[in-house]
Amino acid sequence: MNKFISFFIFFSLFIDSNEISFNEIKNLDKESIEVSFLLEKVSLIKSYSLKDPSRIVLDVYETDLKEEIIKKYNYPIKQVRAFSEENVTRIVIDLYEYINWAKPVQSIKDEAVMLKVEIKKNKKLEESLRDIVVAIDAGHGGKYPGAVGTNNILEKDVTLLIAKELERSLKNTAGFHPVMVRNNDETVSLNDRYQRARRLGADIFVSIHADGFRLSSVKGASVYIWSEKASSSVAENLSDRKRQQIQADIKNLKPYDFNEDSSRELYPKIYKEKIKQSQALGTKILDQLKRDPYTKIHKKNVEFADFRVLKSIDIPSVLVESGFLTNPEDAERLKTKPGRRMIARSIFLGINNYFIENPIEGTLINNNTDYLEYTIQKGDVLSEIAIRFGVTVESIKVTNNIGDNPIYPGQIIYVYLRNL
Ligand SMILES: [Zn+2]
Repeated sequence: MNKFISFFIFFSLFIDSNEISFNEIKNLDKESIEVSFLLEKVSLIKSYSLKDPSRIVLDVYETDLKEEIIKKYNYPIKQVRAFSEENVTRIVIDLYEYINWAKPVQSIKDEAVMLKVEIKKNKKLEESLRDIVVAIDAGHGGKYPGAVGTNNILEKDVTLLIAKELERSLKNTAGFHPVMVRNNDETVSLNDRYQRARRLGADIFVSIHADGFRLSSVKGASVYIWSEKASSSVAENLSDRKRQQIQADIKNLKPYDFNEDSSRELYPKIYKEKIKQSQALGTKILDQLKRDPYTKIHKKNVEFADFRVLKSIDIPSVLVESGFLTNPEDAERLKTKPGRRMIARSIFLGINNYFIENPIEGTLINNNTDYLEYTIQKGDVLSEIAIRFGVTVESIKVTNNIGDNPIYPGQIIYVYLRNL
């Protein structure tokens, strides 16, 4: 057995206790209520809503209850209760009616983990609904510039601009909630990238890059997913220095961090499903990149690679290489806003198409497949919106019966996406 593998086995046997306790229920404003719990470590959580009677359920893996939880509360919450079985704590929020809720987030406070669920009253619903959380990871940043373009643009700047463009499209489209792994020129370690995505409750994780290659002729976009197999075949050929670096990276996990490597061994089925979903998501994004007239394709299938930032056990994760900054054409394309916008658009449409085919129950996308519901923002113009979603201005006007009337902030328009 090589040193690398025995290292992982050692880690898999070493699972700390993780006790969960009730914290509080508080009103955030007139409409929103926050239910919170305390944990010792960031956890794997499956959350969903159920009907008849209405309730929100959180299954928190590898945890024990510190003490019994049963708290009565006011409308719309009847009570909060929890029980533990075989290392899974099930938290149930019993409700008087259907509500809007947000995926639970785990935030760090004084080395402890606060698990929070936000609930919003909504009398009109026939089932509880939540947004899909998309984690957007702009590659590199801060002291790591990434590749340098033949025109001197830096990968870390290109990735952040594409990430922000994607964030903008998702943010104003009903049913999506984008979260940025980094929002500015910040240094973030690889560990922190996927740890952040988990804490933010991500449903999927998209990492954006634009790397370089020693041959300047190599160009085009490609999409990657991570697999243990790709990782171990790479690991076998690693230099000692690189291997030490990876082990140091794993050791660098903070006490409250989630250990993806040991969980992968505990829950092989969850991991297998994640790889399958990553491939489906990656394929949808790649399909869109292939339709983009500005962007050439480097690899026509989704590739496996050892990008550790994608190694979450359960969050479908893909890495999009927008092109090669070492190729003059790609560098010029990614220097311009239209070029970057096309990458963001392909990712956006790929994500949307993925969720249409692989819907999550209790989300808006599940019920609303042909149309996007977009809220006009200050400064928006129809021609730009049309480009961002890959439709014509004319089709937006017809769908919404706008004619030559001006659009205004706050206006909701429908973007018809059929046949994309
Ligand atoms: Zn990169």
